[in-house]
This record gives sequence, C-alpha cells and structure tokens, in this order.
Amino acid sequence: MNDQINDKKALFLDRDGILNIDKAYVYRFEDILWVEGIFELIHFANTHGLLVVVLTNQSGVAQGMYQEADVIKLHAEMKKFLEARNLRVDDWFYCTEYYSERRKPRPGMMIEASNKHNIDLSQSYMIGDKPTDVLDIIGPKTFLLKGNYPLDEIEKTKTAEIFTSLEEILERLKKEIN
Ligand SMILES: [Mg+2]
Repeated sequence: MNDQINDKKALFLDRDGILNIDKAYVYRFEDILWVEGIFELIHFANTHGLLVVVLTNQSGVAQGMYQEADVIKLHAEMKKFLEARNLRVDDWFYCTEYYSERRKPRPGMMIEASNKHNIDLSQSYMIGDKPTDVLDIIGPKTFLLKGNYPLDEIEKTKTAEIFTSLEEILERLKKEIN
C-alpha cells in the first residue's frame, strides 16, 4: 500500500527562457546567460519551503543536434554554478523525445517529479515562457514570462498569468507564499 502523502510544495521551472536565455538549443555551459532575476527567484523558493524542480523539453537530442550526455553535463554544471552561490535546484527532469508522455505540455515529467518528491501539485507553481509550459492537468498555478514566444492563446483563455520579468513573477509569488 502506498501511504505516502504528497504534502510538499514545488516551484517548477522551465529551463530555456527561465533559467537561461533561450538562444535555441543551448547545450554548452559557455552558452548559458542567466535570466535576470532567476537567482532571487530560486533564493526565495529555497528559503520559503518550496522545492525547485526544473522540467525541460530537450528535443535537440531527438534531432541529433546534441547528445543526452550533453544535457546531463550541462545540468551538472548549472547546478554547481548555482550551489557556489548557495542556490539549490532540487531536481532536473528533461525529455529528449518528441513523441513522449513526458514532453510538455503533456504532464509526464511533472507527475514523475510529484511521485518522486511527494509534491502536492495543487499547492505548487510552474514558471515558463511558452504555452506548452501550461501543463494539461489540474495542477500548479502557472506564471508565464513574456519572451520569444507568442502567448496570445493564453491571454485569451486565461489559463495562466502573464508577466514581463522574473522580478514581477517573484512579487506575484510572494503574495501566495508567506
Ligand atoms: Mg522555455
């Protein structure tokens, strides 16, 4: 019998466009430019009882642009860089395939994270920069950062709140978490 209670809260983060500037198919640490406000956001989560979990589609692997080993190496380097600044990302999930239940907007990666870390999705938050970061399940509140991708559909359907900076998203999050 599974008597685990999912009682943890998480801040789910898309990677490209949220942690690092989305320059399309980034896979080397030397190409990482951190998005303004990301350190403050992670720090807030670390100090307010939120797990920080990255969920990233990496179909560049399926397309042969880089290897899964590159993704693993890059995440290890990003983690090390953050840890040197006392910032903690608790886990990194990536999907290398196009046709997968794990590929956002499908919920596979998020469900996996929830099972692994006992996360209550209804008490959690997702931050992304694309309509596909609004996951197709009853789950976290979603905050989208306006960046490289059109969000007109989201504006119409109001399935997520839209912001123009991570600083604004942090202010919004502070209203939720005390
Ligand atoms: Mg993105």
